[in-house]
Amino acid sequence: MTTSLSILTVPAFDDNYLWIVHNGTDAVVVDPGDGKVILQALQEHQLQLKAILLTHHHADHIGGVPDLLQSFAVPVYGPANDKIKTVTHPLNGGDTLAIECLNVEFQVLAMPGHTLGHIAYYSQTEQVLFCGDTLFAGGCGRIFEGTPAQMLHSLNTLAALPEQTAVYCAHEYTMSNLRFALAANPNNTALQNRQLTEQHKRDQDIPTVPSTIGLEKQTNPFLRSNDPDIKRSLLAQEKIEENADELAVFTALRTWKNNF
Ligand code: ZN
Ligand code: FE
Repeated sequence: MTTSLSILTVPAFDDNYLWIVHNGTDAVVVDPGDGKVILQALQEHQLQLKAILLTHHHADHIGGVPDLLQSFAVPVYGPANDKIKTVTHPLNGGDTLAIECLNVEFQVLAMPGHTLGHIAYYSQTEQVLFCGDTLFAGGCGRIFEGTPAQMLHSLNTLAALPEQTAVYCAHEYTMSNLRFALAANPNNTALQNRQLTEQHKRDQDIPTVPSTIGLEKQTNPFLRSNDPDIKRSLLAQEKIEENADELAVFTALRTWKNNF
């Protein structure tokens, strides 16, 4: 299959990114927290909305769905287990979602942790991942409903995707994530370099999203619970025991970040 899809970045609220995937004519939207900015972008690019894809039930990801449905009678795909009233086509991890008008298939990945029903959409052919509030550039979502073990498992599932996969997360949290990452992993040179590159983008008002799975594996502490430098930082602050395993390190990192 030749790649002819484009992805539009639609900023919303203070720091959300909403995504429009399109072929120049037809479009699907991922996590439309705000319907108005999506309708504007569709009109500006002369696109027909064909489907709505949702990752989880939080308002900043689903709030615009009713507005969009007033203008477009389209299917709403979303997690079966996240209690979203507007979902017409519930999805579970392991499902495949074929968007025929765009000639693209997404694998649905179960991502419990931030919410229990959270899902992500991954296209192998397009090498793109829409992961909502699970993996962020340089960080990860807060664990509101799941357990640290579930969140770690979800993140490890994403870390196993091909390194060139583009990571479309739902918030511009990157600089504050990287400040924390450097506190946890101060001797990681890839991380030091990334902070400079991303700060340069932010200075010019350029989004730092998407990143890639490869870059996240090199620089995101929540994908690096086995890094001795991170363990050393946590030990120095008595946040873990000497014999802490991957889950203990991850849990301590997430708790530290919550109060950072
Ligand atoms: Zn959320
Ligand atoms: Fe969010």
